[in-house]
Amino acid sequence: MEQLIDPFARAISYLRVSVTDRCDFRCVYCMSENMQFLPKKELLTLEELDRLCSTFIGLGVRKLRITGGEPLVRRGIMTFFEGMKRHLDSGALHELTLTTNGSQLAKYADALYAAGVRRINVSLDTLDEAKFAEITRWGRLPQVLAGVEAALAAGLKVKINTVALKDFNEDELLTLIEWCASRQMDLTFIEVMPMGDIGNENRLGQYWPLRDLRATLAEHYTLINIPLNTGGPARYVQLGETGQRVGFITPLTHNFCESCNRVRITCTGEIYTCLGQEGHSDLRGPLRASSDDTVLEDAIRAAIALKPKGHDFDYSRDRLDGQMTRHMSHTGG
Ligand code: SAM
Ligand code: SF4
Repeated sequence: MEQLIDPFARAISYLRVSVTDRCDFRCVYCMSENMQFLPKKELLTLEELDRLCSTFIGLGVRKLRITGGEPLVRRGIMTFFEGMKRHLDSGALHELTLTTNGSQLAKYADALYAAGVRRINVSLDTLDEAKFAEITRWGRLPQVLAGVEAALAAGLKVKINTVALKDFNEDELLTLIEWCASRQMDLTFIEVMPMGDIGNENRLGQYWPLRDLRATLAEHYTLINIPLNTGGPARYVQLGETGQRVGFITPLTHNFCESCNRVRITCTGEIYTCLGQEGHSDLRGPLRASSDDTVLEDAIRAAIALKPKGHDFDYSRDRLDGQMTRHMSHTGG
């Protein structure tokens, strides 16, 4: 079958799928405290998720990342992972992975490994128990740390994702790096993005440019630039002293769109071909309308044909509210 190529000659080989909008945390930069979640019937069923992902894999997707909301709180989600293993076994899919808050890892790490998952991203912004409770509202640090240890023990390679927050985890930069280094975990810092209505948190006050973070890091470590191309927005350095890789995701200050190979599917089956733009197409309609996969394939090709060249986040307008009306938990981070 012909591979998916967008109008700017970018091959689409990376699919991120949000499998739920629900979460057991309420991180202040991601959700409001009293989030309204979607009715169940709006969500793609596990069977629909399987069919959709399998169709994308048939069209050339080689890497599949499962996200949310918190993917591991979706009931029956291990059935989905176990189903995707057949594509790893056949060689069609090269990597099956997920982004998780880590709260359920102690329970699922072994099963994820058995389903063919080898690397995971765990989001963790602080190693301080009180600060963790403050930033996640509902999360508890010991549970997540136990999850990380369980993942490592199961043989999963873990990368930690940390949202860089001014006046919050600035002082933990070195502690986090050392903690990760002692467990052979890479670490990626993410600049906070203007997504969704999150209540009265002042997002601009939270913004900590990674340029500044990097400069602080350079005072303590030798930074070696490495041309690691994951097809994503992260730029990486290696720390001369520990050999560890540290990534920076700076969607606001750098344009990374030229090499974008990815599309996202929301938990309701909308396809967003650019994280920073509102444009999207519906795939749930075609999925439910017919059991004929060519109907779905045509809808996917039509959506890819609309993938924009790039996005346009802008903090200079000095707005406190999100420029993007949808939440990260809806599109999948
Ligand atoms: N619940 C899972 C987790 O936290 O890893 C997966 C979904 S979460 C939406 C994915 C990632 O998005 C997390 O690393 C989270 O820190 C990040 N994120 C959420 N809201 C963000 C925002 N406004 N700006 C930057 N990153 C954000
Ligand atoms: Fe949940 Fe992840 Fe959003 Fe935190 S960042 S509220 S863990 S979806």
